[in-house]
Amino acid sequence: MEQSALFEEPEIKTAAQMAVLVPYPVDKAYSYGIPEGMNVQPGNYVSVPLGSREVPGVVWDDAPDNVPAKKLKTVVAKYDLPPMPAVQRKFIDWAAHYNMAAKGAVLKMSLSVPGALEPPKPVTGYRIGVELDEKTQQGLSPQQQRILALLSDGLPRRAAEIADQAACSASVVKTMTKKNILEIVQLYSSAPCRKPDSYKSGVSLSEDQQSAADELTHYVEQDSFQTVLLDGVTGSGKTEVYFEGVAQALKQNKQVLILLPEISLSNAFIDRFKSRFGCAPALWHSALSAGQRKRTWRGVAEGQTKVVIGARSALFLPYQDLGLIVLDEEHDPAYKQEDGVIYNARDMAVVRAHMGKIPVVMVSATPSLETMMNVWQDKYKVLHLPDRHGGAQLPDMHIIDMKADKPGRQEFISPPLKEKLEQNLEIHEQSLLFLNRRGYAPLTLCRTCGHRMNCPRCTSWLVEHKKNNRLSCHHCGYFMPVPKNCPECDDKGSFAACGPGVERIHEEISEAFPEARIIVLASDTAEDHEKLRQILNDIRDHKYDIIIGTQIIAKGHHFPKLTLVGVVDADLGLAGGDLRASERTYQLLHQVAGRAGREELPGNVYLQTFLPQNKVMQALSKHDRDVFLEVEATEREAANMPPYTRLAGIIVSGKDEQLVMDTAKALGKIAPQGKGIQTLGPAEAPFYRLRGNYRRRLLVRADKTLDIQKAIAGWLGQVKVPSKIRIYTDIDPQSFL
Ligand code: ADP
Ligand code: ZN
Repeated sequence: MEQSALFEEPEIKTAAQMAVLVPYPVDKAYSYGIPEGMNVQPGNYVSVPLGSREVPGVVWDDAPDNVPAKKLKTVVAKYDLPPMPAVQRKFIDWAAHYNMAAKGAVLKMSLSVPGALEPPKPVTGYRIGVELDEKTQQGLSPQQQRILALLSDGLPRRAAEIADQAACSASVVKTMTKKNILEIVQLYSSAPCRKPDSYKSGVSLSEDQQSAADELTHYVEQDSFQTVLLDGVTGSGKTEVYFEGVAQALKQNKQVLILLPEISLSNAFIDRFKSRFGCAPALWHSALSAGQRKRTWRGVAEGQTKVVIGARSALFLPYQDLGLIVLDEEHDPAYKQEDGVIYNARDMAVVRAHMGKIPVVMVSATPSLETMMNVWQDKYKVLHLPDRHGGAQLPDMHIIDMKADKPGRQEFISPPLKEKLEQNLEIHEQSLLFLNRRGYAPLTLCRTCGHRMNCPRCTSWLVEHKKNNRLSCHHCGYFMPVPKNCPECDDKGSFAACGPGVERIHEEISEAFPEARIIVLASDTAEDHEKLRQILNDIRDHKYDIIIGTQIIAKGHHFPKLTLVGVVDADLGLAGGDLRASERTYQLLHQVAGRAGREELPGNVYLQTFLPQNKVMQALSKHDRDVFLEVEATEREAANMPPYTRLAGIIVSGKDEQLVMDTAKALGKIAPQGKGIQTLGPAEAPFYRLRGNYRRRLLVRADKTLDIQKAIAGWLGQVKVPSKIRIYTDIDPQSFL
């Protein structure tokens, strides 16, 4: 070893070229020159020329292409942010490969906030600049005096805020600033959720809860990869338990991600988080303002934001030091993203945890079959919470056979369920009627010629909404006024509404119980969060006797007075050829049933069904989840279907129906067929027409040992796809209807 080397300043070597990945649908990181003196390492956020624009990018780990100097473009600037951690870059590469998406498209999910790379701009604030003697103070106008009173606490505020709270115009603030009574300060809004209090104590846990929490904290302490299923009935305190895990990760100064399926419903959840950790969590979902997104993104990237509660896309944020992922309601189909980069956040979360060597907790009362398989094979640890908190009992389940107990003409509620509703009204308890269908009627039909009102752009019926007298498509948002005459035979007033939506049930129930206080709750009745929050509070405070709702009401809510749940059409989800129809129906109905009797009052659930012997109804009425899952597993195995094999959908989409058909056929001819891999189709895709596009699907099924991505890539690479056609790959498809 050469002694002198120790005493020499190390030479900073700037590589001549580096690979930079840009957030556009490209599969490769392009080479860029590094200007002299710019110290750049993989993960740095930079700005690079692309075509005629300057775009953001991230320095990637790939070796550069050694582009000849003449052609080489140069990095323009480096942003002042900590580099994106290596694990995040690796995760992006992996997710792109697995989901067969372009790397740049996946990076885009990590860089999804325009302008977030720029340092945040301060806003102008005002505070009192001088100490005024009494005489000068008295000489001020009443408006100015109000402003002084407001600002006497020393906190700077924005002009608009001052104007609002002191009931004056913003110009008064400006005048006072000119006179030097107020002074200007620059306000920087800080990262959200910087200092959650991990030592604040939560509720005192029951024995079962405590031992689950202890085991969970232990996994977090270990700081290594582990998948844990927190399996407990609704109301058993799963949230309280995983909050302990969150607290532990925070004590280790790690970041935590809590994924929720329906972020818009989480007001109550956010309040709970606040009271447990003494600060609001950082949020991540589509309804955030640009400013909120920016603050969360930067807070996460800089490592200052400690807890993010978000929808599936929050998984792709560039965490500096993620220590725990919680996936609440892990079975929920909302974890699957169906457009853009198609991915399943549940599976991606496990991969992210594995790469980051951290634990991931899946939480559910009705775990998915995939997750249960992993438990049975000892790949996942499982923590059980068998009882509802505080001694509340699971509700009694009753089946109503609709063939025997027929409702009246043009009615949908059977006599026994009506009777139970009446009794519940008499004893002043709350009832919920569940029907997973918005609007008045799912189908409008001409009685004269039989014409069905369809969406002109999609393969779906138009749903009648009485509220605004419209027919609307629930897939693409198309709507039209309800026509007077049939567009086919021109007969007048010949339309008949077929089947019920929640509005129609409302009509029937209001007639049957004119005295009852009734509310209909669906995603379109409570569009903004404030209104929804208000309605939910009113339900909690027993301002309503009967709630008629879609799945918006099924999840997470806690209504102490609710003791009766009636499922209007328990068979609804079973129709069609969905691989997971039984599983999903079981999960949804179980969850709805879980709304009943959550406190000391016992609950009763009535399932209206034409299939009383169906395995789902039987399992629900006997509270026999595990047997149900075992039967389901056996059937899937016999059918050679997931989770025993793997599926991938190849969707061919375009506006030209014939071209779509021809391309799909051409693909079908050379599709992988053989031992361990088969291709089915092409057939019409779920939603054959969607937003004006025709869609055909080929379904590849492969043994789990086979590299399905490789097989698909090799196959698709052989076909020249017309430029007007788009091909999507959907690994592990969830939608089959
Ligand atoms: P789950 O997530 O399993 O549905 P939650 O954690 O939401 O259950 O708990 C249901 C209700 O019971 C919540 O209001 C919760 O605050 C309350 N709860 C659960 N465990 C306890 C406990 N040990 N002490 C006090 N309240 C509890
Ligand atoms: Zn449509």
